[in-house]
Amino acid sequence: MKKRRYPFINLKKANSIYGDCFSKAFGRVLESGRYVGGPEVKSFEDAFSEYTGVTYTVGVGSGLDALRLILRALVLMGKLAEGDEVIVAANAYIASVLAISDAGLIPVPVEPDIMTMNLSVRGIESNLSEKTKAIMPVHLYGRMCMDKEMLKIARNNGLLIIEDCAQAIGASYVAPDSERYKAGSLGIAGAFSFYPTKNIGCLGDGGAVTTNDRELADIVRALGNYGSDYRYHNVYKGYNSRLDTLQAAFLHALLPFTDKVNQLRRRKATIYSEKINRDNIILPMMPNDEKECVWHQYVIRITDGRRDEFREKLEREGVETDIHYPIPVHLQPCYPEYHDKHLPIAEQLSKEILSLPIGNHLTEKDIEEISEIINCLR
Ligand SMILES: *Cc1c(COP(=O)(O)O)cnc(C)c1O
Repeated sequence: MKKRRYPFINLKKANSIYGDCFSKAFGRVLESGRYVGGPEVKSFEDAFSEYTGVTYTVGVGSGLDALRLILRALVLMGKLAEGDEVIVAANAYIASVLAISDAGLIPVPVEPDIMTMNLSVRGIESNLSEKTKAIMPVHLYGRMCMDKEMLKIARNNGLLIIEDCAQAIGASYVAPDSERYKAGSLGIAGAFSFYPTKNIGCLGDGGAVTTNDRELADIVRALGNYGSDYRYHNVYKGYNSRLDTLQAAFLHALLPFTDKVNQLRRRKATIYSEKINRDNIILPMMPNDEKECVWHQYVIRITDGRRDEFREKLEREGVETDIHYPIPVHLQPCYPEYHDKHLPIAEQLSKEILSLPIGNHLTEKDIEEISEIINCLR
């Protein structure tokens, strides 16, 4: 009998349930004759603001651009200056760090917390300097990276909070004021990616900036449009980074499914966490209601030093996995200035982590079967 395969990703299958929504959106945009900007983009931005609980959303070309434009806008506003330091976890995605250096700021990669695999208060505290002006919590794997202490450190040291929400659409956090805040509404601004593999992804590249700051929203919008505030009048040396009309229409159609999609991922994560039981595996921490996780990735740790071997064996059993990410940012070739830095937790994680498939292309039964395969692997 041919062995069943459990692909890590199958976007065609995952998107098949949205076929009608996509076709309708496509037809509408084609008919409208408006393919960049226009009312489709505006109405998606408004819906996204409402969903996220912010005043302004600006659609941009990608998640990386969302971060770049936020940081450049903060520099233009005088809230950050060239050479200022921005603290970010060393196990984050490279895009988070690229955006910081691109804006002329200094990324300071720090140790994540080994259990949450996110930026921690300790990581921030032990790296504060005169030049620290901002922190970038990346809600990695969909887990809210925020707590009372982090908010307090930011407040006491006048640090801006720039959230990288690329993996955390819809996740929320109950702040000390007892209010529930969605990812993207906690700091000065939030950056989202709608890359096709994200929890909510379009059919191409796309991103968004969320903020309650009018000036920041205006500057981000201008920067994404050649730095122009009105037609053929250029106040900044800008870029071309806009959310396509077609992608905005697709995303507007998907937005109402966000909570459902996240709920399905939560159920799958719960199944993995209940079923997987092996001495050499540490399961990801289960979140509480105060600090949610939307499980962009379900990341286990293989602690016997044989992750790659384990991964190959799983592959042979038909289970595709991935590693997010195999090289911590401070050891990437493009950042030689950090190669002397020793960040043992980030380095250990990069060698232990393994992402199991959790996407919409798999059923709960598939997840049970994968758990069983993992438990029985010899
Ligand atoms: C995907 C991702 C990005 C970049 O988004 P793009 O749309 O691919 O540019 C940034 N940060 C994190 C944490 C991501 O997962």
